[in-house]
Amino acid sequence: MDYIEVDQEKCNACGKCVKICPFNAIQIKNKEVLIDLNLCTLCNACISGCERGAIKIIKSGRKSVSSKYKGILVVVEYFNRELKNINLQLISKAVELSRASGDEVTVLLIGNTAGNAKKLKSIFAKYGIKKIRLIYNKNLNQFITEDFSEIISKEILDTNPKIVLFLGTIFGRSIAPRIATRIKTGLTADCTDLKIDKKGNLLQIRPTYGGKVLATIKSPYNFPQMASVRPNIFVEKKRPLKTKDIDFATRETDIKSNISLQGVKKIINLIKNTDEHRAPLDEAKIVFCAGLGVSSKEGFERLRSFAERNGVTIAATRKIVDNRWADFSKQIGQTGLTIRPELYVGFGVSGAIHHIMGMRNSRKIVAINKDLRAPIFKIADYCVVADLFDVLDELESKF
Ligand code: FAD
Repeated sequence: MDYIEVDQEKCNACGKCVKICPFNAIQIKNKEVLIDLNLCTLCNACISGCERGAIKIIKSGRKSVSSKYKGILVVVEYFNRELKNINLQLISKAVELSRASGDEVTVLLIGNTAGNAKKLKSIFAKYGIKKIRLIYNKNLNQFITEDFSEIISKEILDTNPKIVLFLGTIFGRSIAPRIATRIKTGLTADCTDLKIDKKGNLLQIRPTYGGKVLATIKSPYNFPQMASVRPNIFVEKKRPLKTKDIDFATRETDIKSNISLQGVKKIINLIKNTDEHRAPLDEAKIVFCAGLGVSSKEGFERLRSFAERNGVTIAATRKIVDNRWADFSKQIGQTGLTIRPELYVGFGVSGAIHHIMGMRNSRKIVAINKDLRAPIFKIADYCVVADLFDVLDELESKF
């Protein structure tokens, strides 16, 4: 991928680029120009404006369709040995694409056991899938975004598929962008159709401008070409094969825990690096928000006392306030405060629109909820599907 670079020897920190940048991506610190790559869009404005030629875009070597990348990988949702039918829609589409591109389809499952092979083989054989890979670890019984993203990224890097497909469910939406970032490729989310062009590239079709236009997106220079598709767009199509023809392989993988210790560690590091001591809620840098998942006044008090011991500001949803477990001054949302902290962590918050209106501008959002379908996961940067008290145990053991 292309990137932008400042030649600090040529640069005299005049600040012109800071003023020119339409995305506020540039700042000067200690007489050095720093570009925030999360904000920079490589628009060239600073380059044209720099009289000393100190800023340049470094072009990565463009790759065309290469023989290194082969096959279509379909990442299938497979929790607790349960395979939802919507997966069959996606793999049916993948088989159709494979006929146009000449690529073989591999189904990738991540589970907590290597068992169930016979059943899985017979299901996928009905839908024309010849190759199945099951990666397992006994601790993968819960969906932890960090663990799943890591495992799938590694598998992609090891096997070099040309195309990778996900379902646009909470599972797919949580992991696909993380994987794209890890393996440095693009992703078109929420496609409504997929096709293959004459050169074998994936055409990713999705509505844009509020559904008024259908855009066709192609990424011929970056591999794998990745897309997630909305559930219930494609139809299941049986293309039966004999189960003896199925190549089914399992592999045990390493992971250290069954709750997102990595996610917890990130929270802890953010806490460690902050000098904040109980700032007022609407100015706080780190906010722990209690939702009804805390289940009682005692549950709320436990979270509050942990937060405040560590200089973190406590907040609450309206349900907590209505229960009189917290004061109204702690309420975030439409009828409460609007906050914009560096880090918002929701403990057992469902993510109702009235609540989200008050916290959606937080810089990083971590959601801890035991329900994978909780709406807050749609806007969270880090999704921890776990009992909040397990996470709290981990945090308390470290602090
Ligand atoms: P719930 O929706 O009941 O969610 C609890 C969540 O906890 C669930 O997702 C559950 O899966 C999870 N959970 C349970 N146990 C655990 C566990 N052990 N570990 C992990 N997760 C667990 N709400 C506000 O917050 N702010 C407002 O300003 C606001 N204004 C409103 C204005 C109007 C006009 C109306 C109609 C409503 C307003 N509401 C407001 C209410 C809002 O609609 C929701 O009802 C409320 O935000 C839900 O709060 P909650 O997420 O705590 O509870």
